[in-house]
Amino acid sequence: MANLNRRPSPVADLWDWQLRGSCRDMDTSVFFHPDGGTGEAGRHRGTAAIAVCARCPVLAECAAYALAAGEPYGVWGGFTVAERRRLLAIGWEDLADPWRRRVDIARLRARLTARTPAARERQPVREPHEPHRLPA
Ligand code: SF4
Repeated sequence: MANLNRRPSPVADLWDWQLRGSCRDMDTSVFFHPDGGTGEAGRHRGTAAIAVCARCPVLAECAAYALAAGEPYGVWGGFTVAERRRLLAIGWEDLADPWRRRVDIARLRARLTARTPAARERQPVREPHEPHRLPA
Protein backbone atom coordinates (compact mmCIF):
# COMPACT_ATOMS: atom_id res chain seq x y z
CA MET A 1 0.00 0.00 0.00
CA ALA A 2 1.26 3.45 -0.88
CA ASN A 3 2.55 5.68 1.88
CA LEU A 4 0.46 8.78 1.32
CA ASN A 5 2.68 10.86 3.58
CA ARG A 6 5.51 10.56 1.06
CA ARG A 7 3.58 11.86 -1.88
CA PRO A 8 4.87 15.19 -3.16
CA SER A 9 2.65 18.14 -2.47
CA PRO A 10 0.45 19.26 -5.33
CA VAL A 11 2.34 22.00 -7.12
CA ALA A 12 -0.61 24.40 -6.77
CA ASP A 13 -0.22 24.22 -2.99
CA LEU A 14 3.29 25.62 -3.31
CA TRP A 15 2.42 28.45 -5.64
CA ASP A 16 -1.18 29.47 -5.10
CA TRP A 17 -0.12 32.26 -2.75
CA GLN A 18 0.95 34.13 -5.89
CA LEU A 19 -2.66 34.29 -7.01
CA ARG A 20 -3.51 36.30 -3.90
CA GLY A 21 -0.69 38.83 -4.12
CA SER A 22 -1.62 42.50 -4.11
CA CYS A 23 0.68 43.02 -7.08
CA ARG A 24 -1.03 40.41 -9.23
CA ASP A 25 -2.50 42.82 -11.78
CA MET A 26 0.03 45.60 -11.38
CA ASP A 27 2.71 46.75 -13.77
CA THR A 28 5.82 44.75 -12.94
CA SER A 29 7.99 47.83 -13.41
CA VAL A 30 6.84 48.92 -9.94
CA PHE A 31 8.70 45.91 -8.50
CA PHE A 32 11.47 45.42 -11.04
CA HIS A 33 13.39 48.25 -12.58
CA PRO A 34 15.72 48.14 -15.55
CA ASP A 35 18.72 49.65 -13.82
CA GLY A 36 18.81 46.92 -11.20
CA GLY A 37 17.51 49.13 -8.45
CA THR A 38 20.21 51.76 -8.31
CA GLY A 39 19.66 55.49 -8.53
CA GLU A 40 16.94 57.83 -7.35
CA ALA A 41 14.25 56.49 -9.71
CA GLY A 42 14.90 52.98 -8.50
CA ARG A 43 14.61 54.08 -4.87
CA HIS A 44 11.23 55.73 -5.52
CA ARG A 45 9.93 52.65 -7.25
CA GLY A 46 11.22 50.48 -4.43
CA THR A 47 9.33 52.62 -1.93
CA ALA A 48 6.12 52.30 -3.97
CA ALA A 49 6.53 48.55 -4.20
CA ILE A 50 7.18 48.20 -0.48
CA ALA A 51 3.98 50.16 0.23
CA VAL A 52 2.01 47.68 -1.88
CA CYS A 53 3.67 44.74 -0.16
CA ALA A 54 2.85 46.14 3.28
CA ARG A 55 -0.86 45.58 2.58
CA CYS A 56 -0.42 42.23 0.86
CA PRO A 57 -2.09 39.16 2.39
CA VAL A 58 0.74 36.86 1.28
CA LEU A 59 3.68 38.95 2.43
CA ALA A 60 5.12 36.16 4.58
CA GLU A 61 4.88 33.57 1.82
CA CYS A 62 6.35 35.89 -0.79
CA ALA A 63 9.33 36.84 1.36
CA ALA A 64 9.99 33.18 2.19
CA TYR A 65 9.93 32.25 -1.47
CA ALA A 66 12.30 35.04 -2.47
CA LEU A 67 14.77 34.21 0.28
CA ALA A 68 14.66 30.47 -0.37
CA ALA A 69 15.03 30.96 -4.11
CA GLY A 70 17.68 33.66 -3.80
CA GLU A 71 15.70 35.97 -6.08
CA PRO A 72 18.33 38.41 -7.36
CA TYR A 73 16.01 41.16 -8.63
CA GLY A 74 13.07 43.24 -7.54
CA VAL A 75 11.07 43.74 -4.39
CA TRP A 76 9.59 40.55 -2.93
CA GLY A 77 7.76 40.27 0.33
CA GLY A 78 8.49 43.91 1.05
CA PHE A 79 12.25 43.35 0.99
CA THR A 80 14.56 44.99 -1.50
CA VAL A 81 17.42 43.17 -3.19
CA ALA A 82 19.89 44.70 -0.73
CA GLU A 83 17.79 43.68 2.27
CA ARG A 84 17.45 40.10 1.01
CA ARG A 85 21.18 39.91 0.37
CA ARG A 86 21.77 41.02 3.92
CA LEU A 87 19.30 38.49 5.32
CA LEU A 88 20.93 35.73 3.30
CA ALA A 89 24.26 36.74 4.81
CA ILE A 90 23.13 37.07 8.44
CA GLY A 91 20.56 34.27 8.42
CA TRP A 92 16.81 34.05 8.00
CA GLU A 93 15.82 30.38 8.10
CA ASP A 94 15.39 30.26 11.87
CA LEU A 95 12.59 32.77 11.37
CA ALA A 96 10.82 30.58 8.82
CA ASP A 97 8.37 27.75 9.31
CA PRO A 98 9.79 24.23 9.02
CA TRP A 99 8.96 24.11 5.29
CA ARG A 100 10.39 27.57 4.60
CA ARG A 101 7.07 28.64 3.11
CA ARG A 102 6.44 31.54 5.50
CA VAL A 103 8.71 33.84 7.44
CA ASP A 104 8.22 36.07 10.44
CA ILE A 105 8.35 39.45 8.72
CA ALA A 106 8.48 41.56 11.89
CA ARG A 107 11.44 39.66 13.28
CA LEU A 108 13.28 39.69 9.97
CA ARG A 109 12.82 43.48 9.89
CA ALA A 110 14.12 43.69 13.44
CA ARG A 111 17.11 41.58 12.46
CA LEU A 112 17.89 43.92 9.60
CA THR A 113 17.88 46.93 11.89
CA ALA A 114 19.91 45.33 14.67
CA ARG A 115 23.13 47.28 14.68
CA THR A 116 25.58 44.66 15.85
CA PRO A 117 26.01 40.90 15.64
CA ALA A 118 25.64 40.78 19.44
CA ALA A 119 22.25 42.53 19.20
CA ARG A 120 21.15 40.04 16.58
CA GLU A 121 22.30 37.18 18.81
CA ARG A 122 20.08 38.45 21.63
CA GLN A 123 16.96 38.03 19.52
CA PRO A 124 15.28 34.83 20.71
CA VAL A 125 15.09 32.02 18.20
CA ARG A 126 11.59 30.76 17.53
CA GLU A 127 11.05 27.06 18.11
CA PRO A 128 10.12 25.20 14.89
CA HIS A 129 6.70 24.19 16.22
CA GLU A 130 5.81 27.63 17.57
CA PRO A 131 2.87 29.13 15.67
CA HIS A 132 3.96 31.56 13.04
CA ARG A 133 3.31 35.21 13.76
CA LEU A 134 1.54 37.09 11.06
CA PRO A 135 2.66 40.56 10.17
CA ALA A 136 0.70 43.33 11.88
S1 SF4 B 1 4.41 40.70 -0.93
FE1 SF4 B 1 4.65 42.26 -2.54
S2 SF4 B 1 5.73 41.25 -4.23
FE2 SF4 B 1 4.93 39.66 -2.86
S3 SF4 B 1 2.96 39.05 -3.73
FE3 SF4 B 1 2.57 40.64 -2.20
S4 SF4 B 1 2.57 42.60 -3.29
FE4 SF4 B 1 3.52 41.06 -4.63
